[in-house]
Amino acid sequence: MAKTVYIVGLGLIGASMALGIKRDHPDYKILGYNRSQASRDIALKEGMIDRATDDFASFAPLADIIILSLPIKQTIAFIKELANLDLKEGVIISDAGSTKSAIVDAAEQYLDGKSVRFVGAHPMAGSHKTGAASADVNLFENAYYIFTPSSLTSPDTLEEMKDLLSGLHARFIEIDAKEHDRVTSQISHFPHILASSLMEQTAVYAQEHEMARRFAAGGFRDMTRIAESEPGMWTSILLSNRETILERIEDFKERLDEVGQAISKGDEEQIWNFFNQAREQRQAMEIHKRGGVDSSYDLYVDVPDEEDVILRILELLRGTSLVNIHINEENREDIHGILQISFKNAQDLERAEHLITENTDYTVVIK
Ligand code: NAD
Repeated sequence: MAKTVYIVGLGLIGASMALGIKRDHPDYKILGYNRSQASRDIALKEGMIDRATDDFASFAPLADIIILSLPIKQTIAFIKELANLDLKEGVIISDAGSTKSAIVDAAEQYLDGKSVRFVGAHPMAGSHKTGAASADVNLFENAYYIFTPSSLTSPDTLEEMKDLLSGLHARFIEIDAKEHDRVTSQISHFPHILASSLMEQTAVYAQEHEMARRFAAGGFRDMTRIAESEPGMWTSILLSNRETILERIEDFKERLDEVGQAISKGDEEQIWNFFNQAREQRQAMEIHKRGGVDSSYDLYVDVPDEEDVILRILELLRGTSLVNIHINEENREDIHGILQISFKNAQDLERAEHLITENTDYTVVIK
């Protein structure tokens, strides 16, 4: 039976979800809420949604499934508002917030006793882009789509959500909301703090040491890439997961102190072990097996500095899921080759390696 889905917030995540839902369920009716007109207009014009509103409450009673794709604070405010609306019996409410405990707690507080089902969710894909204009039907491909079931999640809720979202081609997984927030504090929230701190430290340092800007290369770029993330989103993530993040900061300070002490003592063995252990741990980690969250599939090509060489390679790769291309110039200390090309999936990485080695004599390296 064709369902009516209400996407609340036609930003990057909401609009990309609308596209993914349409892909497998072209007969479903998608309603969209957005505060500003620009994203509403784009979503309607591009056929992502069938109808649009700037009045959140007006479409809610029509929906079989409501997906809140808004900043965390606003998600909570709308959950509270939904509790007072006359919704369809058994409607499913879900969200996309990057932290889960505060949202799930709010749902349990406000929706308990109503004839609604709720399941918290976090699609682990995104970028620094915002708004419906950046929507991408493949945004969630191969990414984890985390559900955090709670007392408001009945057994059939997840099945219905997975069916609705099948066109996202994501990997569905379930985890407790608190555990989700602990794990993401370590592997996502804290690394963002580190990247931004390192960026800030370097920027201040570079005021006195101008060459720091010029010498910053591959390692520095890899470490600070996520410092370009959207500040509003990260502020609300940190504020909605305070305790666990503060724990990670304290833990890290101790680790830094330990390395500092080893350096001041000149303890060669301890320093070597420090690096060696981290190397072994990283090699054993899932990101290294290309299965991890947010992983892209990179290959490096050693190319001569000749006219049209990049165009020639791109021509060979026509039709692959190429997502990024980067030319590593000047300092290539810790980088293989010069041209770095990223793909969305492993099949295309292999295909690209094959195409380039078959058709050129350039060296291709996959790290
Ligand atoms: P976005 O900026 O592209 O979209 C945010 C949406 O929220 C827009 O539709 C905006 O109009 C709306 N909005 C903002 N403040 C509002 C308010 N006060 N009242 C009503 N509407 C308001 O952001 P996004 O990337 O789509 O993020 C949406 C949610 O998804 C956030 O909770 C974010 O934590 C989560 N998320 C983001 C990413 C990512 O990398 N972008 C990844 C996973 C989850």
